[in-house]
Amino acid sequence: MLSRSLPCLWITFCLHVCCFVDSGKAQNAKEVILMDSKAQQTELEWISYPPNGWEEISGLDENYTPIRTYQVCQVMEPNQNNWLRTNWIEKGNAQRIFVELKFTLRDCNSLPGVVGTCKETFNLYYQETDSEVGRSLRENQYVKIDTIAADESFTQGDLGERKMKLNTEVRIIGPLSRRGFYLAFQDVGACIALVSVKVYYKKCWSIIENLATFPDTVTGSEFSSLVEVEGMCVSDAEEEADNSPKMHCSAEGEWLVPIGKCICKAGFHQKGDACEPCGRGFYKSSSQDLQCSRCPAHSFNDREGSWRCDCEDGYYRALSDPPSVACTRPPSAPQNLVYNINQTTVSLEWSPPADTGGRNDVTYRVICRRCSWEPEECVPCGPNVGYSPAQSGLVDTYVTIMDLLAHANYTFEVEAVNGVSDLSRTQRLFAAVSIATGQAAPSQVSEVIKEKVQQRSIQLSWQEPHQPNGVIKEYEIKYYEKDQKDRIYSTVTSKSTSATVNNLKPSTAYVFQIRAFTEAGYGTYGPRLEITTKEEATAAIVSSEQNPVIIIAVVAVAGTIILVFMVFGFIIGRRHCGYSKADQEGDEELYFQFKFPGTKTYIDPETYEDPNRAVHQFAKELDASCIKIERVIGAGEFGEVCSGRLKLPGKRDVSVAIKTLKVGYTEKQRRDFLCEASIMGQFDHPNVVHLEGVVTRGKPVMIVIEYMENGSLDAFLRKHDGQFTVIQLVGMLRGIAAGMRYLSDMGYVHRDLAARNILVNSNLVCKVSDFGLSRVIDDDPEAVYTTTGGKIPVRWTAPEAIQYRKFTSASDVWSYGIVMWEVMSYGERPYWDMSNQDVIKAIEEGYRLPAPMDCPPGLHQLMLDCWQKDRAERPKFDQIVGILDKMIRNPNTLKTPVGTCTRPISPLLDQSTPDFTAFRSVGEWLEAIKMERYRDNFTAAGYSSLESVARMSIEDVMSLGITLVGHQKKIMSSIQTMRAQMLHLHGTGVQV
Ligand code: AMP
Repeated sequence: MLSRSLPCLWITFCLHVCCFVDSGKAQNAKEVILMDSKAQQTELEWISYPPNGWEEISGLDENYTPIRTYQVCQVMEPNQNNWLRTNWIEKGNAQRIFVELKFTLRDCNSLPGVVGTCKETFNLYYQETDSEVGRSLRENQYVKIDTIAADESFTQGDLGERKMKLNTEVRIIGPLSRRGFYLAFQDVGACIALVSVKVYYKKCWSIIENLATFPDTVTGSEFSSLVEVEGMCVSDAEEEADNSPKMHCSAEGEWLVPIGKCICKAGFHQKGDACEPCGRGFYKSSSQDLQCSRCPAHSFNDREGSWRCDCEDGYYRALSDPPSVACTRPPSAPQNLVYNINQTTVSLEWSPPADTGGRNDVTYRVICRRCSWEPEECVPCGPNVGYSPAQSGLVDTYVTIMDLLAHANYTFEVEAVNGVSDLSRTQRLFAAVSIATGQAAPSQVSEVIKEKVQQRSIQLSWQEPHQPNGVIKEYEIKYYEKDQKDRIYSTVTSKSTSATVNNLKPSTAYVFQIRAFTEAGYGTYGPRLEITTKEEATAAIVSSEQNPVIIIAVVAVAGTIILVFMVFGFIIGRRHCGYSKADQEGDEELYFQFKFPGTKTYIDPETYEDPNRAVHQFAKELDASCIKIERVIGAGEFGEVCSGRLKLPGKRDVSVAIKTLKVGYTEKQRRDFLCEASIMGQFDHPNVVHLEGVVTRGKPVMIVIEYMENGSLDAFLRKHDGQFTVIQLVGMLRGIAAGMRYLSDMGYVHRDLAARNILVNSNLVCKVSDFGLSRVIDDDPEAVYTTTGGKIPVRWTAPEAIQYRKFTSASDVWSYGIVMWEVMSYGERPYWDMSNQDVIKAIEEGYRLPAPMDCPPGLHQLMLDCWQKDRAERPKFDQIVGILDKMIRNPNTLKTPVGTCTRPISPLLDQSTPDFTAFRSVGEWLEAIKMERYRDNFTAAGYSSLESVARMSIEDVMSLGITLVGHQKKIMSSIQTMRAQMLHLHGTGVQV
């Protein structure tokens, strides 16, 4: 009886007097419950065997909720084996099953008289099946999970009440392979109350992490296993490239190790765990961007979720433009387009457009059209024209166009283009110039055919050069024996495109080259053609081909040419200033038996007995009725200078400047006045002012010259101070140098080259003007009388010309250096307000003008080279043109290193030059030029005052023991400046 009554006692006691202290937690969110005895309030109806073992009893839990429990307490009798089996539990997806048992177990010590039979443990089993197996219970089909012992049991409370703590034990089973299972509890003689049995498995619940959804995932079968799960991007999100989202579900039902992620698609941005569309006026171009951005300048959008914004009307986005950049538009036209013509080569230069359209990828393209004179109809120039550096895609603001036809009219359009120009349908904006090319030598004779090869003669024919550039007067055939050591050449000429060369040796290889000759000179030789004459049939045959006529012709031509040379030589000899230019053919290894003079030579009109003849030889007599005088634009030495129009019959009227001879002139004045026309009329160069003609048979006597809209260069530069780019200024200088090269090649010495004597047209083309003879200097207000007699524009004139009137092209080069300085300083007066006498002294002592403000060092160096004391050391105009061309081609060489070149604030005291007169001691001066290391050298040698230093020569400096050339130069240049300053400020020279 006890065995049955005893448990009832304590259980009743327990359930109604005391409460379980549940150490288990509330249901974990990661758990999926398969069975929970507590959740069932009706009978559990588990199988109990034998029937007097486990007993189902109703009770209340700690919350007084009714629960069903099983109890057993057969502690008094030995050999107990009481089984209790749950109902079938379907496992679903679970692989690892958790079994949580809550129970109380009575301490055997608390039960009197049960020693030996009372147990304090019970066993837990399971059986896997695919379905329910009925109510029979076979022990051997069960697998033991564990023996369960109590952690807590009844204890005596302080007040004598019995406290009982609820045990919670969890056991894990798995992996399971069948669809379900049963649990079984084996009691072997303990006093147990099984308060609840809960069976569950764990799961990682669906979550959104990194914008990816991970589904509910059942944990793996092993304790340590992680289940890898692929995430699915939330809507409007996409997987990051090569970084698809993954997470790992741990055995504990926790998500671990997130890898990869999703990102919001273009047009969407992240808000919490979702992607939301960008608002109106915003865009997000790529999933990589985090945020939506406001539409860039000149773009808009009026819908949500945009990946880009649309451009406003007239604005575009280039294909390569990212959506983040502002919409842009084509640039405006290039500005200040200027040109230079050199025979059949045209150089164009311009300034960047005022509006780049908001882009920095502006390039330029040139469109070349050849136009007929009248009516003006233009056709594209075609592929025979060369462009340097290119026709389009030009980054720099200049281009050279070569191989144009001589004496042809061209129109060049320069268009600025940028990345959106091709997208725009608006009208093209460009700057244009119309240009007429000058004369040029013919192009190569390249297509030569051997027509007939004999023992002693070869007949050749050829095609006219592609660009004859004028009327071909004759061809020159040059030939030599290929194997002959001396390479003596012979030439024959032909007026047609074929020739027979006679007097050749049989069985001999000859090399032939042909060139064409026009008014403009010889073209370059075509390629070498090698031909071997036929073998001689018998030695006895005397050639009938030897043609004395050719020999006579050659000798006759030679004689004529020598005569021409003699005549020229005579004229040149009389003037002592002319020389003929070397032949333009540059094949140095050859020498010719005969030579044509390549360039015209200037003829001094004074050599004409009758000056009127000279005028009419070189200048066209115009009919006064063709000239319309419009207004007075200046005053010349002989009368007013007017502007007006010249309309020659059959030609378009052109703007002209008209120089008039004032009434009441003397015969000498008339001669001197017209002398300028006689000189100007001999010149034909784009950088030399062009004479239209003269009116001598009527009054007033007039000289009609092309009109130069911008007047003289010095005034023009002063008016536009600081407004040109260095390239433009160098372009002007290049033009002047090219004009001077032409004049010096013709043997003309200008003597009064100065910015005031350069005229500028509307395209900024500079042309040398003001030609005269004795009057050259007389009419120049800058000219002063020197001790050597005659008037000289001192500031522009080379020392040897001032001292002993040695005027040469080299003295023109000196003047050109001064013009360079005037141009780079925008018309500043050379040597500022120094007196002429001081200028002469300063130059004599080695002082040279400093670099004007912002003047590239290379240009100042060129000026200094032009101002070499020894005139043989000065560059020739040809070299100057070459140097300037190189600078124009490589604008980097024209960059001014910051702080190297500054415009003087007062004469000779420029910002970079210290004022030496302000130093109190030699020491202070040396410190200022960072040469203080030589202080002792100066003191030891007795140079104690600045005046004594100012007298030092380079030899003196070297004698101090200053051996470094750089330091010698630095000290010397500082001494020179000091000297010039002293000279300027005290008006006294320093005796050296
Ligand atoms: P000149 O007698 O050559 O010194 O000329 C006097 C002034 O007339 C010059 O300073 C110019 O301003 C102006 N002038 C002379 N020739 C021309 C021309 N071809 N075109 C425009 N202006 C000229």
